[in-house]
Amino acid sequence: MRHWLTLLFIAVLLVLPQLGATPEFWITQLNYIGLTSLVVLGLVLLTGVGGLTSFGQAAFVGLGAYTTAYLTARLGWSPWFNLLVGMAVTMMVAYILGAITLRLSGHFLPLCTLAWGLALYYLFGNLEFLGQYDGISGIAPLEFFGISLSSGRDIYYLIWAFALLAMWGTRNLLNSRPGRAIRALKHGSGMAESFGVNMGNYKVIVFVYAALLACVSGWLYAHYQRAVSPSPFGLNYGIEYLFMAVLGGAGSVWGAVLGSALVLSLKDQLQNWLPKLLNTDINFELIVFGILMVLILQYARDGLWPILHKAWEQVFGTQKRNQAAPPQAEALPQRERPQAGSLVLEVNKIRKEFGGLVAVNDISFTLNAGQIMGLIGPNGAGKSTTFNLITGVLSATSGQVSFLGQRIDGKPAREISRLGVGRTFQHVQLLPTMTVLENVALGAHLRRNVGVVSAVLHTERRSEAELLHEAAVQLQRVGLGDYLYEEAGNLALGQQRILEIARALASDPLLLLLDEPAAGLRYKEKQELAKVLDQLRSEGMSILLVEHDMDFVMNLTDKLVVMDFGTKLAEGLPKEIQENPAVLEAYLGGIDDDLDLDQVNEPASAGAAL
Ligand code: ADP
Ligand code: MG
Repeated sequence: MRHWLTLLFIAVLLVLPQLGATPEFWITQLNYIGLTSLVVLGLVLLTGVGGLTSFGQAAFVGLGAYTTAYLTARLGWSPWFNLLVGMAVTMMVAYILGAITLRLSGHFLPLCTLAWGLALYYLFGNLEFLGQYDGISGIAPLEFFGISLSSGRDIYYLIWAFALLAMWGTRNLLNSRPGRAIRALKHGSGMAESFGVNMGNYKVIVFVYAALLACVSGWLYAHYQRAVSPSPFGLNYGIEYLFMAVLGGAGSVWGAVLGSALVLSLKDQLQNWLPKLLNTDINFELIVFGILMVLILQYARDGLWPILHKAWEQVFGTQKRNQAAPPQAEALPQRERPQAGSLVLEVNKIRKEFGGLVAVNDISFTLNAGQIMGLIGPNGAGKSTTFNLITGVLSATSGQVSFLGQRIDGKPAREISRLGVGRTFQHVQLLPTMTVLENVALGAHLRRNVGVVSAVLHTERRSEAELLHEAAVQLQRVGLGDYLYEEAGNLALGQQRILEIARALASDPLLLLLDEPAAGLRYKEKQELAKVLDQLRSEGMSILLVEHDMDFVMNLTDKLVVMDFGTKLAEGLPKEIQENPAVLEAYLGGIDDDLDLDQVNEPASAGAAL
């Protein structure tokens, strides 16, 4: 159905300029909507999807416009060649600005974009060779295979060809391996880095991508207007672009077009009517936009597109997504398994202090290939912190961790993941609006290398099919095969934990760290999970498990380490631990000889406690 609407949209765009009756004003307006959509599309990716707010996109439009203006009008170079030069210049500037500023968190990044937005604007206005505030005029129109695109009706097709291509490419990008990483940006870096995603790199990538779209828009603008001056690239336009993205719906490709169209039309109408109504020439439309912005942020955070989309679905029914499992594809290559019984993990006196609190106090243990080890202890004992030290999410105060004979302490999480350590989180970390399948495919990030360019052009079909197939296989293995296209946020909490196991398995780990995987599961589901873990063990996987359900732990594990207040209390076979006086003392004050940690830790099983 949506496909059909897209085609209708394109058909109307194609036909409009052909109708002699279409007023020139409409064409101009549509041209500007197309030009603006390109810039806003970049913001959809950068701000809406990536969560990085930029007020400075207008400056990149200026960079594209001024580069071609100077090279075409002053040096007589070919505009098409200048597009490439402009893109190269923009790429360089955006890369440098991005590398410096994207590391900043919170409000510092938007502040920085304000700063360089202003800086570039004043640069355009003050450089003599760019004509200062008068700008550059006499820019040649574009030519396309000998046809001069000098009128609005002529350049219209080129503008919309670029806009539609950009929409197509951006949508492709979002539905790809790099796209899944980009969609993870907003949710903090911890989780995705644990699957080998270099979040810092992806921030720079979306930043440069958005800047390039703005540059193309500037190039088209310069040859459409045939003159440039600094004012359309100032900060107020940067803010307006952001407003369009927020209004239209910063999370979707169509939101960019909707936001551009609404704001430009509204601005036009307001500029027509407000002076008449208020009997003054002052630009009151900015005040109206300000009020609208407040309303949108209050009542429609995600913008208008999702609202329209929902209304559409209510009238015409929900569009069922592709419900069949992804097509069969070649299996991804697997790591070589270590020999059964060989040493996989060696933790030697690791320690973590948070200020004065010793959360992990010189803990040591080893784990062999094909073993399941349980790490148990009351809440706050330091189990999750131990996991975070092993997986590189936290750095240890002291001590060593070796994985397959290689020191991994001090390495970042994504390096450790690359070596074959997969994990789940005590507090589920999923991308709730992404499908179950996509969430798991994110786990397989390192198993296929797909670059941004092939993702945009969708030439990575084969790799993508292999990644999705792998994700589906792992989901079927853990029993979530019926939920592939469900939004992950719609699953029950227990299922979300199981999803995390599938995601970890998709990374082809040799060592699996599971932090309370059975919490929130029903009895039967726990049994199913135990079966899956048992099967993994028989395939040679090493598993480290934190779990409060003692039946589950005692039946499944080969050995146990008990922690209390950061310290190792005991280590041994499950049977030995059950009879260990020190353990009984710590858990139950030595009253009962039957260890029943399940009841002691009830709040944790409900997922409420830390
Ligand atoms: P467990 O997983 O065994 O329940 P944790 O490893 O989560 O325990 O926590 C161990 C102790 O460390 C707790 O006292 C907890 O409050 C503290 N802790 C955990 N993470 C942090 C942190 N990031 N900053 C400060 N204290 C922390
Ligand atoms: Mg914990």
